[in-house]
Amino acid sequence: MRFATFTMSDDPRERVGVCTPDGTSLIDLAQVSDDAGRPRWGDIVSLIAAAADGLPAWLRTLASDSSARALPLAEVRLLAPIPRPRKNIFCVGLNYREHIAEGEFAGEAGASHPVFPEFFTKAPTCVVAHLDPVPRHAGVTGQLDYEGELGVVIGRGGKNIPAGRALEHVFGYTIVNDVTARDLQHSHKQWFKGKSLDGSCPLGPVIVTSDEIPDPSRLRLTTTVNGERRQDASLSQMIFGVAEIIAHLSKGMTLEPGDVIATGTPSGVGYARKPPGLLEVGDEVAVAIDGIGELRNRIG
Ligand code: ZN
Repeated sequence: MRFATFTMSDDPRERVGVCTPDGTSLIDLAQVSDDAGRPRWGDIVSLIAAAADGLPAWLRTLASDSSARALPLAEVRLLAPIPRPRKNIFCVGLNYREHIAEGEFAGEAGASHPVFPEFFTKAPTCVVAHLDPVPRHAGVTGQLDYEGELGVVIGRGGKNIPAGRALEHVFGYTIVNDVTARDLQHSHKQWFKGKSLDGSCPLGPVIVTSDEIPDPSRLRLTTTVNGERRQDASLSQMIFGVAEIIAHLSKGMTLEPGDVIATGTPSGVGYARKPPGLLEVGDEVAVAIDGIGELRNRIG
């Protein structure tokens, strides 16, 4: 199933929707819940928490219920599927060997064969939706860059989750563009500031539930800038796969429903290109992962 968060043009309240199988329409969960006296979830994180041990059967069949009133996508405004995560977005740095090789960390001892994943976070305020503009932040950064990544949305929470059970804790998958101000990343000696400018976390367009993606390592990711292919990788090239990331991150630290993890970017980022391919006003970045969709944003 595919879940989205959206608003209507005549009503700014956030709604949670289920995509119809053809992907052209959304069924408003609040509407069908009110009609049938079912639980009403005001936001998607509440739904994810309620469905931690599995989605209710009626919700599973809803998308194919032809009697449910579906809203054409053209009539709604998509928000990020989790418009305001309850905590920072967890991120993994340097999770593809070719990305390490292209970057400034290539010469560091053990860089290409790390024992532990490198974690950092992005502020929840930087999340924006598919098609939202990403601010250029001229005067703040001169080196705005893209990083296409698989996003993992935690379902059932937990701590000390073994890798062998980790995928049972995944509600679904989405796409993240981990937009990065490279000069801030370098000058502040710590990644958080350069990764957290407003608008620097395009997320979406939807969350695809994990039952549709039993093995995320089989997916392929591409990133284009103005139609030019910049990143193209199999997710099987990750140094730490999704299960290992969850196992490491949850050691002694509780993961909760709705937590988002960006799993790292493959090679082909802008600053490592010769000449550099950094982002300017008007550039359009599209990150696509097969089985999930395409996340597209213009620099504005
Ligand atoms: Zn990243």
